[in-house]
Amino acid sequence: MSRLETDSIHMGKEYNRTNAVVTPIFQTSTYLASDNLDEYIIAASETKHPEFYHRHGNPTNSQVASILASLEKTEDALVLATGMAAISTAVLATVKAGDHVVAQQSHYSGASLFLKEFLTDYGVQVTYVDQTDNDAFIKAIRTNTKLIYIETPSNPNLDITDLSFIGRLGKEKGILTMVDNTFASPINQTPSEFGIDVIVHSATKYLGGHSDLTAGAICGSKGFIHSAWRRSLVLGASLSPFDSWLLLRGLKTLSIRVKQVNENAQLLAEWLEQSHYIKSVAYAGLPSHPQHELAKRQMKGFTGMLCIEVAGATEEEQYKHAQIILKNLKIFANAASLGGVESLIVHPASMWGGHHSSEQKKVAGINQGMLRISVGIENIEDLIQDFSQACEKL
Ligand SMILES: *Cc1c(COP(=O)(O)O)cnc(C)c1O
Repeated sequence: MSRLETDSIHMGKEYNRTNAVVTPIFQTSTYLASDNLDEYIIAASETKHPEFYHRHGNPTNSQVASILASLEKTEDALVLATGMAAISTAVLATVKAGDHVVAQQSHYSGASLFLKEFLTDYGVQVTYVDQTDNDAFIKAIRTNTKLIYIETPSNPNLDITDLSFIGRLGKEKGILTMVDNTFASPINQTPSEFGIDVIVHSATKYLGGHSDLTAGAICGSKGFIHSAWRRSLVLGASLSPFDSWLLLRGLKTLSIRVKQVNENAQLLAEWLEQSHYIKSVAYAGLPSHPQHELAKRQMKGFTGMLCIEVAGATEEEQYKHAQIILKNLKIFANAASLGGVESLIVHPASMWGGHHSSEQKKVAGINQGMLRISVGIENIEDLIQDFSQACEKL
């Protein structure tokens, strides 16, 4: 293992058994049986064997997993078809009917639905706490708590959860801790260094980085990855050979992409904060962020994600202003997802209208004038100019 900029290019090369410098796409569902029956029996049963049958494993998937385990500083990793496949598989490898989970009030919307609807239907209880309140996590723990599930910075309001506190709490109580590290990426935050057991990712975002694939990852101990892999065999969300190959390609530039979005987002956040068209800016890198000191302790960079509240006399006016800005931005595209080289922007209140009641949105801190921005690697002067001209339309 070298440093992460090197590992993201070189780890797992042994899975490429050809002479091609770039690992080919292994577009095959199945692999020839070995003449040696004992070897074939091993291939059929070994965790993530890369050359037996695609749902079990694939050489590119193994190479990507090896890079991600190295970046997250965990023993092993498993890649799957989407971030939600990673989250649901990892959680279902941890809890069963009768168990209890402590989670946050604010999570990625798909994860919230999984906790609220799916787990509850299958007999798992979930308690939701304010992630900025460490004591709330302690109070929520019951005798049957098996998992503390967190996300930091959280989607969309960029609240921070205290990783070292949660890591210690989990160890002290014998409860597995799991974090969604999608927003930060392993370049900005390494939760395992704070004692967090399992790290999940939507690799669709920063890890892939080009908005051209969907993938997910689970990073953890060898034992945990084995359990998650066994669950994945029956849940069936294997990562396709082509998406895996695209992810491998994307990972090679992860470190420079993330460093650039960190820099761009900081400058854009500072510009937005002084604009009178904008009521408030939530960005972990701003001293005005209520948890800026905590963010500095556990993050190496503050990501390309920021959330703004557009100014307006009433919520209706804020809503109208947010729509005008959205419509007039030329570089920022109004599209779901994040973490790509291109800047994207969404209006959470309208995007999640169909899945969440207004009460749920309030609890999750979603306001009518809120815009969530994923800053890309374009020229920062152009990005600021784009916002400036869109605000002038108000
Ligand atoms: C996008 C996202 C997910 C879900 O990932 P998919 O690849 O879309 O399934 C999970 N968590 C966070 C924080 C995300 O942004």
